[in-house]
This record gives sequence, C-alpha cells and structure tokens, in this order.
Amino acid sequence: MDFRLSDQQAAIETSVRQVCGRFDDAYWSDCDEQGRFPHEFHGAMAEGGWLGITMPEEFGGAGLGVTEAAIMMNAVTSSGGGYSAASALHLNMFGPHAVVVHGTKEQKQRWLPPLAVGAEKACFGVTEPDAGLDTTSITTTATRVPGGYRVNGRKLWTSTGQVAHKILLLTRTTPKEECRKPSAGMTLFYTELDRSKVEVRRIRKMGRNAVDSNAVFIDDLFIPEEDRVGEEGRGFVYLLDSLNPERILVASEAIGLGRDALARAAAYARERIVFGRPIGQNQGVQHPLAENWTALEAAWWQCLRAGWLYDQGLPCGAEANAAKFLSARAAFDTCTRAVLTHGGMGYAREYQVERFFRESILLRIAPITEQLILSFIAERVLDLPKSY
Ligand SMILES: Cc1cc2nc3c(=O)[nH]c(=O)nc-3n(C[C@H](O)[C@H](O)[C@H](O)COP(=O)(O)OP(=O)(O)OC[C@H]3O[C@@H](n4cnc5c(N)ncnc54)[C@H](O)[C@@H]3O)c2cc1C
Repeated sequence: MDFRLSDQQAAIETSVRQVCGRFDDAYWSDCDEQGRFPHEFHGAMAEGGWLGITMPEEFGGAGLGVTEAAIMMNAVTSSGGGYSAASALHLNMFGPHAVVVHGTKEQKQRWLPPLAVGAEKACFGVTEPDAGLDTTSITTTATRVPGGYRVNGRKLWTSTGQVAHKILLLTRTTPKEECRKPSAGMTLFYTELDRSKVEVRRIRKMGRNAVDSNAVFIDDLFIPEEDRVGEEGRGFVYLLDSLNPERILVASEAIGLGRDALARAAAYARERIVFGRPIGQNQGVQHPLAENWTALEAAWWQCLRAGWLYDQGLPCGAEANAAKFLSARAAFDTCTRAVLTHGGMGYAREYQVERFFRESILLRIAPITEQLILSFIAERVLDLPKSY
C-alpha cells in the first residue's frame, strides 16, 4: 500500500491550484451575487486542458482516471470558487461519460473535442417534477418519426441550461407499464439544446448561484437518430455507468469545499482576539474544528479508495456511495462550523464562509440524497430487503 500521490497526481493538484489562483474571492462573490456563469474561469480551465481530463486522448482528452479527476476537482473547490467552480466544470466531465463508454466513434469525434476545449457546454436532463428520485417514472417521451424522434416533456433542475449548447436527455420510448422491468424502455440522447423548441426557465435558489438550474419545457423537439446514445430502450443502463464516477467526483468536491471553509475558520480563530486571547485558544472553538478535520480526512481517503477501485475496473458502488455520503456530511458540518467560528462575521458576505455554507447543503441533496444512498448500502452491502 502506498498512500502518497504520484508525481503526476501531485503535479495535477499544483497546476490546477495555479489556474484557480487567478480568480479571487471578489470574482466568486460577484458571480454568486449576480448569478453570473464564471465564463472566464471555465475558459481558463479549458485553456489549461483540464476539461477533458478523463476523455480519451484521441478525442482531445488526457485519458486519465477518475482518481486524477477527483484530485483535480478537490483542488478546484478548495481554491475559493467552492461548489460553483466545480459545477461550472463537472457536468462536462461526468455528463458525457455515457457517450465515452457507449457512443460510436463518429459520435465521440463529433461531441467530445468541443467539450474538451470548452467550445461547447453540456447540461444533464434527467430529473423530472413528477418522478423525483424514482427515475424510471419519468414521462418525457420520445416518439419515433422518420429520421429520428419527436420529444415532449418536462425536466427539472437542469443545471447550466442557460449557457449549455447540448443536453444529455433521458426519455421514455416505451411506457413503463409495457416493459419487462421498470428500467427498460428508456432512451438516452445527446443533442442540440434547440431553444426554439425548449424553454429553459431559471429557478431562484439558495446557493451555488453562479451556476443556473432550470425548469425545462420540451415541446416537439426533433432529435435525429444519430444523436441517440447506444440502443433504444437501454438508456437507463447507460446512465448507471456514470453514477459511480459522478459520486466520486462530487465527494471530492465536497471535501475541497470543506477544506477551504476549515482553513478560513482556523485562520480567523488564530487572529480574532476576544477576552484578551485568540478565540482559537478556547477548546470550545478548536475541538469542533479539529473534529471537522478528522471527518474530512476520513471522507477523502474513502473517496480516493473508491476512485482507485473504479480505475482498476473493480466494483465500487458501495465505496462511491459511502464517499459521497461521508463527504457531503463532513462538508456541511465544516461549513456550518466555519460560519459559527466567525461569530457575527460568519454571516457577512465578506468572509465567504456563508457562501460555502449555502452551497454545502446542496451536496447532501443532489445528485442523490442521503436516504437513497443509505438504502443502497442497506440492500447491496447488508442484504436487507428493498424498502421502496
Ligand atoms: C441545485 C440543484 C441542481 C440540480 N441539478 C440537476 C441537473 O443538472 N440535472 C438533473 O437531472 N437533476 C438535477 N438536480 C436534481 C437532483 O438530482 C434531485 O433534486 C435529487 O436527486 C432529489 O430528487 P427530488 O428533488 O426529486 O427529491 P424527491 O424524490 O422528491 O425526494 C424528496 C425527499 O424524500 C426522500 N425520499 C424519497 N423517496 C424515498 C424513499 N423511498 N426512502 C427514503 N426517502 C425517500 C428523498 O431522499 C428526499 O429527501 C439538481 C437539484 C438541485 C437542488
């Protein structure tokens, strides 16, 4: 066993931090307050060649593993941009994973290079208002027509829909009642976000405001056959392939967010003098921060272990889910504690920790909630009966 980062992994961390260092707190505060997509940051990361880190080299990527992507995204979120910075990038990284695994060579050639160089952005249209976490109950329907499909339906929470050029869209091609099993009869597309047929309405929300989330209304959208990913009816299976890498990346992002909040809280606790001594000299202030550190470290090693398993081609569902669960909790607890450590100033925008706090609760909700993770572990690891 060797727990050190390789030279290449350490270099990834350093180089990503260098790019992120060009964007200061004022930049991220402004993006958050204006609800403005961080195009300059996205462009700088694209220029540095980071967006295609896990894409195959022949399509403009770096061909590295999920472990390297996790190290990269941890560096991104711990450098001041928080979860907004991560979200500006990660939909383009794990979103097209189904394309990388199941797309044809022609599709990969058409779709991946523009994502890798930052010329195009993709959004992810899975969640629906009436289905929620019960994804097989989606009702957005793709009906066969000459040359392709006509699609009608609604999606909810589709992030980056305001700036995206493409959408990865999960649809039903056969009604659930007519399928052998609920997960059959669903078809995945990666296609143009044609705004003449798709209305993208922004949702006002608590945090991560630099990256928009939307209600999406799809009205008679034509999708050519060549934009279907894999076989008709197998879309849900393809989507499952991207779930573990997504969980691992989100986990690494949560830990980065927590680490930044913790560093700021510790710095404040060293400097703020009350009752004639630094507040961090009080055990009531320092112990909770020390506890946050232990939780973040434990979650980080679970995350790297899950990444390593995935990159070795070994099963990693339980580990990836556990990493997401532990890191989201650790990030939320740490960001909460960072606000409390700053006292009244924790509530002021100037100290940034309130921005991290608002972002951190999202990690417990999306892309998967804690309850569903625990149900997965209960069924798959502990062999308990399925509860839903
Ligand atoms: C800011 C933001 C960005 C997002 N971006 C995207 C995106 O880009 N693309 C996309 O497709 N989706 C996106 N989502 C959607 C996100 O993945 C879902 O919100 C999340 O999966 C939860 O689904 P839901 O909101 O429908 O909750 P619901 O399914 O309505 O669940 C509500 C609550 O009930 C609990 N619950 C439900 N069923 C059970 C059960 N059987 N047992 C125990 N508890 C249960 C849930 O855990 C949850 O706590 C985003 C969400 C947010 C908030």
